[in-house]
Amino acid sequence: MVGQQSVVRTLVNAIQMNRTHQAYVFSGSRGIGKTSIARIFSKALRCPNVQMKEGLLHSCDQCPDCTEIAAGSSVNVLEIDGASNNGVDSVREIRESAKFLPSSGKYKIYIVDEVHMLSVSAFNALLKTLEEPPEHVVFIFATTEPHKIPETILGRCQRFDFKRVTVAQITERVREVLKSEGIEAEEAALGLVARAAEGSMRDALSILDQVISFSGSKITAAGVRESIGMIGTELVFELLKGILVRDAKSALAIVQTAFNQGVDLKTLLKSLSEMLHALILIQVGIEKPETEFNEDEITLIRGLATHRALEENELIFQVLHHGLELVSRASQPKLIFDLLVIKSSLAEAIIPADVLKSGHESHSPRRAPRPGATVEDPEKRELVEKSKAAVSGGPGALELRQQESTESNRAAENPTPAQEAPPGLGFSFSGMDRKAPAKPQEPAPVRIEGNSEAIWNEMIEVCFATRPVLAILLESVVEWAFPKTRDDRFLLGFREQDRPKMDQLTHKAVREQFGLLTEPKLGFKAIPEGFISTKTGESLAEKNARIKREARDLKMQSILNHQIVLEARSLFGVELTEIKMAEREA
Ligand SMILES: [Zn+2]
Repeated sequence: MVGQQSVVRTLVNAIQMNRTHQAYVFSGSRGIGKTSIARIFSKALRCPNVQMKEGLLHSCDQCPDCTEIAAGSSVNVLEIDGASNNGVDSVREIRESAKFLPSSGKYKIYIVDEVHMLSVSAFNALLKTLEEPPEHVVFIFATTEPHKIPETILGRCQRFDFKRVTVAQITERVREVLKSEGIEAEEAALGLVARAAEGSMRDALSILDQVISFSGSKITAAGVRESIGMIGTELVFELLKGILVRDAKSALAIVQTAFNQGVDLKTLLKSLSEMLHALILIQVGIEKPETEFNEDEITLIRGLATHRALEENELIFQVLHHGLELVSRASQPKLIFDLLVIKSSLAEAIIPADVLKSGHESHSPRRAPRPGATVEDPEKRELVEKSKAAVSGGPGALELRQQESTESNRAAENPTPAQEAPPGLGFSFSGMDRKAPAKPQEPAPVRIEGNSEAIWNEMIEVCFATRPVLAILLESVVEWAFPKTRDDRFLLGFREQDRPKMDQLTHKAVREQFGLLTEPKLGFKAIPEGFISTKTGESLAEKNARIKREARDLKMQSILNHQIVLEARSLFGVELTEIKMAEREA
């Protein structure tokens, strides 16, 4: 299995040492090999002829067990689709059948795919089985959304997070397949297929199939794009460039062309965000960001770094990211898309009211000097950091600053009045009606007692409003320790799978941003230090998603048990087929 060596090794070791668990969770994106590995594992557990070769267990693939498992017809290895069998009755059936010994051999294995689709009561029933599982039973739960599985269930399973297959790994596999078929292909074409697969080997192979039948014996990058309706990097690049140089007119023309060609606007917006994300990573000092883009494209993207300061790019990223949801919901997505392009083109960095008012030496972000303006010293930029007041005051408290701040004109300068952001969009931009500046609020540094979760959450919230890229990084932290003195480090614990995120903490720009983020709370700029946490629990991102989901489930239950619903059901003999909830929840 490509890319999942560590999972395979652990499972093999477990079988060899006779220490198999009774329940496993295989999590990872679709097409990544979860079900395949579940089957291989089942064969290794059941095949009577299993042999050790080159450090791996090999089932014979010929005995009845092996052939039946491969065909999905084994009575001792049952594959259940959790999505269509998500009710409590299905789980009860599994429980009943699990009581019986396998018809032969030692193990009876249940592979439940998409297990996160089980209903609340089905999970409860499942939990009872997992609390006292019959000795011969092994459960393998596959899921694309592990955060939807209750903690109580997860706690009783050994969990394997399947790694996303990298673009390089998919490219290699695609190359092998083409070679074995004797088909020629441009190097760029391989990369396109690999990226279109979005981390799924299975998708890569089916895309390849489609491309081969379209292009025949010679595959070109243009052919790949045409056959799968892919958006050219050049198009996305030109669009992003238009936005960054504030040329809304040509950016809109590009959107129009794409729209006329039938390009899916949501896909275009996604590609645009991804490219900007890559640019931001480059700007914080990451030489070779691990993104969807190849080296040539990264070189191109790097060329865009001179147009806007990091803060502005982060702001635009926020605009686009927020826009994704709007565009997918809109009945006329083109209108929203155009608006986003205009907003992004006009977006300028925002500086919180208190920073401007408190007389702190602060500078607007670097941008192309205007006539008469002196180029400012980038080292002196001290920006959005004290932004708590800005966030608690809502978008209206954010102020936009237009004047270049220089040594010579600082004395004369006045803060530019605030501009009100449109509702639902947490940023401000040029061209809106102006409003008087909000009252200044000097953030009082507080002493942190212990590892206050509330303060941590608040910091992240502030961070999301000002530095979303750093916020996404911090959201994956599972434990933390505030520094007690100025000399201490701010300890941030990451799970093993988030090691790449932890590594970003070593970048100078990230450290600086973190220092600025912590300053209003601590009274000094804390230095972050990452460590690998042994905590296996959920990250803040997962926790927030779960809380929201649980509230929803609870509400759903209360609806189902509501007197009116119960009466209607008995009176009319009907069942509820669908419950729609308004987004705004109590
Ligand atoms: Zn066999």
